[in-house]
Amino acid sequence: MRSFDDIPGWLAQRKQEHLLRSRNQLQSAQSTRPVINGKEVLSFTSNDYLGLANHPSIAAAMRAAAEQYGVGAGASHLVSGHHLEHELLEQELAALVDREAALVFSTGYMANIGVISALMSRRDTVLEDKLNHASLIDGVRLSGARSLRYRHNDTDHLAQQLERAQGKKLIVTDGVFSMDGDCANLCEMADIARASSAWLMVDDAHGIGVIGQCGGGLVHKLGLSSEQVPLIVGTLGKAFGTSGAFVAGDKSTIDYLMQVSRPYIYTTATPPAIAAASRAALKLVAGANAARTNLTERIQQFREGIKTLGYELMPSYTPIQPVVIGANEKAVSMSEQLLKRGILVTAIRPPTVPKGTSRLRVTLSAEHTADNVEYLLGVMEDLK
Ligand SMILES: *Cc1c(COP(=O)(O)O)cnc(C)c1O
Repeated sequence: MRSFDDIPGWLAQRKQEHLLRSRNQLQSAQSTRPVINGKEVLSFTSNDYLGLANHPSIAAAMRAAAEQYGVGAGASHLVSGHHLEHELLEQELAALVDREAALVFSTGYMANIGVISALMSRRDTVLEDKLNHASLIDGVRLSGARSLRYRHNDTDHLAQQLERAQGKKLIVTDGVFSMDGDCANLCEMADIARASSAWLMVDDAHGIGVIGQCGGGLVHKLGLSSEQVPLIVGTLGKAFGTSGAFVAGDKSTIDYLMQVSRPYIYTTATPPAIAAASRAALKLVAGANAARTNLTERIQQFREGIKTLGYELMPSYTPIQPVVIGANEKAVSMSEQLLKRGILVTAIRPPTVPKGTSRLRVTLSAEHTADNVEYLLGVMEDLK
C-alpha cells in the first residue's frame, strides 16, 4: 500500500482473492455448542480444550474475588497493582510445570515479546522454527537480535544454523505447533542447545493443561529440567479457560525478567479476579485426567475416521487436527458448507499458513461427545 487512499482497493483485492478476514459474533458462552451469528452450532474451533471457559466454579471464583477486591488492578505490577492473587497464581503455576518461579503476563503475546526482548539484543542470535507463532517472531523483531530460521522441526538444520550464530544464542519453539498440531522434538533440541551453550525457550500455549500428568504440559511430560529448558511460556486463555499467560524458570531468570521486561512493567496488572479465576482453573486442570482421557479418545476417533474418508491429515496427536485442503477458495467453501450443516470449523489461509496449504483447522475438546465427532465425519464424507 503506497498511499492511505489505497485502503479501499486493498480490501477489494483481498476479498477477490478469498483472503479477507471476517469475524463471527459469539452470542453465548464459549462451548462446543455456542450461538454464533444468531444460530446454535456444533463448534470445532475453540482452544477451550477442557471445556473450562464456561465452568461454574471458575466463574464463581471470579465473582467472589470481584466482590472482595473490585475489578481494576489500578496500577502496574511494580507500582501497586501486584495482588496477593497474582502472587499465589505465580507460585501455583511454577509448581505445575516444576520450576522455581513464574511471572504472570496479561497475554501470551505479551509474554513472548516480553521474554525475548528482555533477554536478547542486537548482538545476539535467536534460532526460530519456520512455523513458530507470530508472537515469538514479533518478540525477536522487537529485540533487534539476528534471526535464523530453521526448517520445521528439523534438528539437523537447527544444528547447522547454530554454527552461524553469534552472541547469546536462544532457540525458540512452539511446544505444540498452533496450526499443525504436531510437537517440537524437545529432547533432541535440548541436547543441541546444551552442546552449544544456547538456551531453549518453549511456548507451550497448546500443551499446558492438555499434555502430561496434571496437565503440566509437554516439557513436564518429557521430564526436561530447567537446565535443559530454561524458559517455559504457558497461556491461560486456552485449556485453562481464563485469560493471561506466564513464563516459568529459575528464580534468578524470573527476577531478571521482572526488572527489565517492558511488556511486563509498562502495563496495568490484570484484574485480581482474573488471577483468582485462573487459580480455580488450575485446580480443575490438575484434576482433569478423565477429561484428558476423553479428549484423547475423540482425537483418535477423528483421525481414524477422517483418514478412512481419504483426507490428508497432519502428524498430530494433540487436539489440533488440521485437514489440509490446498486452495484458499476450496477451504473457504468447505467451511461454508459445514456451517450450512450446523458445524463451525475455521478455514485457515495464508499468511497464517504457507501458500497452497489452506486448511480446515479442527480443534477437539474434552466436551465433545463421540456422536459430535461422528456427525462431523458424516458431513465431511458428504463434502468429499
Ligand atoms: C495463542 C498463542 C499465543 C498467544 O497467547 P494469548 O494469551 O492468546 O495472547 C502464543 N503462542 C502460541 C503458540 C499460541 O497458540
